[in-house]
Order: sequence, then structure tokens, then C-alpha cells
Amino acid sequence: MKSQLEFIRVRNFIDGEWVEETGVEYLPVFNPSTGEVIGEVPISSRESGLRAVESAYNAYDSWRKLPISSRVSYLFKLHKAMEEHAEELAVIIAIDQAKHISEARGEVFRVIEIIETACGIPTLVQGETLEGISTNINARVIRQPLGVFGGIAPFNFPALVFGWFVPFAIGVGNTFIFKPSTQSPMFMQKMGDIFKEIDLPKGVINIINGDRSVPNVWYDHPKISGVCLVGSTPTAKKIAELCGRSGKRSMLLGGAKNYLVAMEDAQMDMFIENYLNSCYGSAGQRCLAGSIVAAVSEIYDRVVERIIEASKHVVVGDAMDPDVYMGPVISAEAVKRIEDYIEIGIKEEAKLMLDGRNPKIPDKNKKGYFVAPTVFTEVTPDMTIAKDEIFGPLVSVIRIKDIDDALQLIRNQEFGNGACIFTQNLYYSEKFISDANVGMVGVNVGICAPHPYLPFGGIKDSHLGTNKVQGKDGIDFFTQNKIATVRFSPPTGGFLDRSEGPKEEKKAPKPREVRSCVPR
Ligand code: NAD
Repeated sequence: MKSQLEFIRVRNFIDGEWVEETGVEYLPVFNPSTGEVIGEVPISSRESGLRAVESAYNAYDSWRKLPISSRVSYLFKLHKAMEEHAEELAVIIAIDQAKHISEARGEVFRVIEIIETACGIPTLVQGETLEGISTNINARVIRQPLGVFGGIAPFNFPALVFGWFVPFAIGVGNTFIFKPSTQSPMFMQKMGDIFKEIDLPKGVINIINGDRSVPNVWYDHPKISGVCLVGSTPTAKKIAELCGRSGKRSMLLGGAKNYLVAMEDAQMDMFIENYLNSCYGSAGQRCLAGSIVAAVSEIYDRVVERIIEASKHVVVGDAMDPDVYMGPVISAEAVKRIEDYIEIGIKEEAKLMLDGRNPKIPDKNKKGYFVAPTVFTEVTPDMTIAKDEIFGPLVSVIRIKDIDDALQLIRNQEFGNGACIFTQNLYYSEKFISDANVGMVGVNVGICAPHPYLPFGGIKDSHLGTNKVQGKDGIDFFTQNKIATVRFSPPTGGFLDRSEGPKEEKKAPKPREVRSCVPR
């Protein structure tokens, strides 16, 4: 298996062509498993940003007027091409974002599933009809695309976020400009090749690289209809403000802090298996990562013992190594941030049961960005490590009295992405589903990521703007309603009045007792 990438100078994909930025700053792109520079990414100029908008806008009219089956045929081609290139795409993710190769394959597979769902757009986008609102008058609601959308991705899901936005957006007839994270831009470089391979009409999807400055051309641009983001909550709030000011649609998924609740009847082996995947998958850099365990007193000690035991056996190392369970975090800055939180936890007098600083790793990975599983116990809800999104393999364990205690902790949080409960008790399960103040709940499921047919997204500070991604919500966000009212009457025998005779004088309509704005 290939475990290296050739050095890549990242290019933009504008109007169906690869374009190299000149005269701008380039940032290095690292392989977080080794610390090696694997390429460089431009901070694209405002001019390039504007060119991408023009390209997407010019493509819009003919793209939206294509028969829906033709548009969907491109999604089928995209699906097929991604299946053919799946392994190559997964390797790219495992190298530039350093998600473990098994998880990178899972991410690519999920995008393929989302495209499968989007292939059902002719059914999903259907409107409604109300026949006979009055004599010979019918009404219908149709769903239409809006125009050009801009989308911004975080570093941790370079493929999935493309899947959340683009297939739904273009399937219903919009065109798209996608901005990857400067920390993981390589996946979209391969995707641009795939767009060429499937002969996607030029301008339907543009890729523009750069930092936060790149989307600045979108907010006030009259040719942009809306902006979507998956990123941290401060970024989501900033974009919500900018889109609000110019009246643009926005769909913004933000940060998270997710509870795993262990009740006294939790099946311990199942809990631990889910704990490992949830807390250490993607090295804890996942919006649905578990980062707090709340265990009732009856089983608190057993939970701690099993967590520590299992966490000690997590093999940390190169994301391409099949024997490794957890890869690195994204950058040296991320290591520093997580280590700072470990210091804060110690200062706040939580009990550091497992310290993931300076883990043992192979020599070839010495310059990589590693933090091993870290566990604090006796954490209280007011501590910083219990409140902040740390985005790494650092877990806080809190002791709770009962389910009401767990629900109160979840309610008090600023974030509201996901939460899971481990129990065999139907009452606990139903109560948790009903009362946990989050957008996605799991029962005996550690990562409650909804299937592509369903919406995905949190509440409170984890979600701003209007809709969530995927499913019907995705369709709603990328379309607008139009309501048509149609009167029909029997044919009068001709379309043009050619009679020569004297015209009958038009009589003024009789006033009605009730004049309605609704057709009668
Ligand atoms: P980030 O907010 O730093 O950056 C996300 C993207 O936004 C990047 O492409 C960045 O260049 C861009 N950006 C940053 N500031 C911007 C601004 N002011 N205007 C416009 N664009 C801006 O986030 P990150 O570190 O790349 O990703 C991690 C974050 O994403 C975490 O908080 C995580 O919880 C969140 N996330 C959430 C979900 C979800 O479903 N809710 C999924 C994945 C990641």
C-alpha cells in the first residue's frame, strides 16, 4: 500500500480547469503522522475567489435546466468513480489529515452512501399539489434551486463535509464553490480530477483554497445565494452574523462536547467497545466524539477501572499502520492545546489517571503530532475540561447520582450536538431520548451519527443557521418553494379573436358581496 504522497502544490479548480495561484502566499501542508511537509496550499487571491463565483453563476442556468434525470446521471457517475478510486482517496485522507486508514476508508464509504441517497433526488425534491382549491383552480408547491452556494470544510472531515453539502446542492440544480481546510486540502485535489473524469459540466463545482479570507467575497456578493460551514462554533457565529447582515441563507454546524452516560445496568463490554471508538476514533477530533463519561455511583469505580485498562492498550502511531488504533492529532498547535488542557485539569484538581503526553511512538514518527489517551476522573461540571471543546483524546469522567443528574448536566452545556446512554432499561432509554437537550441521541450506540437519509446536526451552540445537513433537511436548505395557482377553463374554440364585426361593449364586473384575494 502506498504510504507516501508526491509533493503536491495545491491548485484551484475553477470553471472545469486546474489553476495554479501565482503571486500569493503558500502554506505548508504536513503529514501529521511524521511531521513531513507533503505539499503547499495557496491563500487564494480575491480575484480568484471572484472568478470562481462567476464560473458557478454562469454554469447555473444551464445546469438547473438540465432534465433532473440528466443531473442525477452525473451523481451516478460520481458514485461509480468514487468507488473505483476509494482506496486512493482513503490513503490521501490518512496521510494529509492522518485519520487512521480504517477510518479514512469509512469516511470515503460514507460519502459514497450519501451520493447514493442524493441519487434519489427526483423523489426527494417532489413538491405538493392541492387540487380544486376552487372551481377549475388547482395549486401546487414546487421546489426550485436558488443559484450558487459556497461551502467551507473543517480539517477533520475533508471528504464527509463535501458529501454533506455538494451532492444535495448540485442534485437539486444549484452550483457550488467548495473551500477545503488549509490543513487537509489534498482530498479535493483528487476530487477535481474525478470531476474532469466524469465530464461534469464546467463551473458546476469549483474548488478554491485558502484560509478564512477566501469566503469574504461571498457574503455581500449578489450572485451567491447561501453559505454552509462545518467548523468551530466561533467560526459558525461569525458567518451567521455576516450572512444575517446580507440576508443570505446559512447552514452552520459548530463545535461539540458529547456525553456518554453509563447507567447501573450498562453492559460493560459493549460500553467499553463504544467508548474506545467514540473517544479515541479520529484521535478525539470528531464532532460526535465522546469527551465526557458520566457514570452513576453504583458502577463509577468499575467504569473507571475498565476505561483505564482499555485506554492503556490503545496503540498510538502512524495513521497508515494497520496495527495502530489511534493516529496523531492534526498539528503541533493541537498537541500544545491538548497539553495545556491537561495542565488546566491538574490545576483544577481533577485526578489525572492516564497521562497521554509524550507517548512512545516509532522513530519514524518522532516528528509527528501525538497525544495518547488521557483520562481525568473526579471531574466536576464547573471545571474547564468539562466545559470546553478540547478536540483530542482527553476524556473527563464525572460521577452522577441518577439519570436526572445526567440530563441536567447535558442541559447546562452550551453545546448540544450528541449524547449517548448505555442502559438496558426502557424507562431510562425513552426518558433520555425525550429529555437530552442535544440534536442527536444514541442508546447503546457510542457515535450516534445519523444515516444519510436522515438529518445530521446538533442544537444550541452546535448548530446555527437554518437547516441541518443530509436527508430532507439538506433538500430544504438547497431549495426554495414556489407556489403556483392555475385556473383552467374549457377551450373557447380558438386562441385569437379574428372576428370583423362590431365589438361587444365590455361590461364592468358586478361587485361581489365578498371580494376575496383567494381565486374563486
Ligand atoms: P475552524 O472553525 O477553525 O475552521 C473551519 C473552516 O472554516 C476552515 O476551512 C477555516 O479556514 C474556515 N474559517 C475559519 N474562520 C473563518 C471565518 N472567520 N470565516 C470564514 N471561514 C473561516 O474549525 P477546524 O479546526 O477546521 O475544525 C474543527 C471544528 O469543526 C471543531 O470545533 C468541530 O467540532 C467542528 N466540526 C463540527 C462538526 C459538526 O457536525 N457539528 C463536524 C466536524 C467538525
